[in-house]
Amino acid sequence: MDMTARPLIEPGPDDIPALAGPLGPGGALMPGDDGFERYLHEPRDRWRGRAACVLRPRTTGEVAGLVAACNARRIGIVPVSGGTGLVAGQIIDKGATPVILSLERMTRIRAVLPEDGALIAEAGVTLSEVQAAAAAAGRLYPLSMASEGACRVGGNLATNAGGVQVLRYGNARDLCLGVEAVMADGSVHHGLKALRKDNTGYDLRHLLIGSEGTLGIITAAVLKLFPAPGEVVTGMLAVPSPAAAVALLHALRDRLGDGVTAFELIGGQGPAFIQRFHPDWHDPLAGKPDWRVLVEITGPADAGLAERAETVLAGLFEEGLAEDGILASSGQQRDAMWWLRETIPEANRKVGAVSSHDISVPLSSIPAFIEEAGRAVAAIDPALTVNCFGHVGDGNLHFNVFPAPGRSRADHDPVRPAVKTAIHETAHRLGGSISAEHGIGRLKRADLAKFGDPAKLAAMRAIKAALDPNGILNPGAVIPD
Ligand SMILES: Cc1cc2nc3c(=O)[nH]c(=O)nc-3n(C[C@H](O)[C@H](O)[C@H](O)COP(=O)(O)OP(=O)(O)OC[C@H]3O[C@@H](n4cnc5c(N)ncnc54)[C@H](O)[C@@H]3O)c2cc1C
Repeated sequence: MDMTARPLIEPGPDDIPALAGPLGPGGALMPGDDGFERYLHEPRDRWRGRAACVLRPRTTGEVAGLVAACNARRIGIVPVSGGTGLVAGQIIDKGATPVILSLERMTRIRAVLPEDGALIAEAGVTLSEVQAAAAAAGRLYPLSMASEGACRVGGNLATNAGGVQVLRYGNARDLCLGVEAVMADGSVHHGLKALRKDNTGYDLRHLLIGSEGTLGIITAAVLKLFPAPGEVVTGMLAVPSPAAAVALLHALRDRLGDGVTAFELIGGQGPAFIQRFHPDWHDPLAGKPDWRVLVEITGPADAGLAERAETVLAGLFEEGLAEDGILASSGQQRDAMWWLRETIPEANRKVGAVSSHDISVPLSSIPAFIEEAGRAVAAIDPALTVNCFGHVGDGNLHFNVFPAPGRSRADHDPVRPAVKTAIHETAHRLGGSISAEHGIGRLKRADLAKFGDPAKLAAMRAIKAALDPNGILNPGAVIPD
């Protein structure tokens, strides 16, 4: 950041009407208005944000006008799409009070282009709406996660979201052909091209994706569509260990190729938490296994995928890589399997984690990470409970630590920093990352400072200073002090 830049200011009584006026009725929410308060909260209710007002533009032109005005006045802007981010990127609790710029009224699917394998959606379209628009055109938009009914295109790209099909289709970054974005001075980057190849210098799209609102405000994007799968095989398999899960994944991919679209590891604690809040829930697997995987394999219609997958899986049972299992024989059974996976975050929230982590390590290090991180947590307090689950096909685990039975989250406040450090150090030592898919936001800035590559951090600061010299875009997010 340019240290000569003037500091950001608190919006004054003249600023708010000047910003809100052009948006017309319903275009802004003030403190005390119905619906204002929800913008100050995030899914885990760990932080409460602050905002002078919530601005709700409907067009890219309106976003550009707001950003230019805030830049001229030195007012900080926090962009928000669905508000489901898990690292407090959309919540500001320190520094000059900002305005929140919500993209949720930019909800147009501007074009569906099946012939280009693409779709153009505005930043406020929810992920489920994008999936539905793709399906209506006989195509697949493969980004998928438990928050898909609430998170939106702008937030998905700003966080470079992952989810459950990265193994086959990649992250949000890999699913985006172009973006339209408002830069910090209010200029508009018109990058909505449905091109698969475009080597014309620096790729602004890739700079904006994953920048968590610190470099520009994404207003629309060209998203990649894929052939819709004709056949889907979903199974839940008990595995003897995380090492067996990784071996099972490799064996499946060797035998079925790219058809393996999802491969989720679920430790025994997740189903146990779910049972606590959903006592009528029936576990599809008997015997409460310590480890299980949820596998999804897709392929074209009429290619005999189900028979082939059954034969392959039977062989893997014989090899001892799986101990028990069930393949979904109906859409209802498939939904029930995914319900289990997607209800784990909700159950975690109800229990209340001491510390949550979203790490990645090379696939080969998954078993070592689980063992070593578990040992490190036990050394801090052997009564702490770990719920480990995640997108193991991507080397991405959510390794969340919960209070010892009969104790509360607050009881463990003194050890929280040690728990987090132990887990992040383990991931780092094994060549991993302290943030696999959720981003840095405000939660992980200190971790980025500690574990980030110095040359990368210097480049990040230089890029931020060049593209947002007044530091108005999501101040205090991502870049360490
Ligand atoms: C139950 C649950 C399950 C989840 N599962 C997953 C998962 O499997 N994988 C995963 O990756 N994440 C997951 N998440 C996290 C979250 O859903 C994703 O990070 C999502 O991409 C955030 O989108 P959003 O629209 O809610 O963004 P927001 O929360 O609104 O914003 C997130 C960040 O992006 C910035 N931002 C928002 N909109 C824009 C914009 N238009 N332009 C520029 N910056 C912007 C914000 O300032 C903030 O820094 C989960 C969250 C929940 C609650």
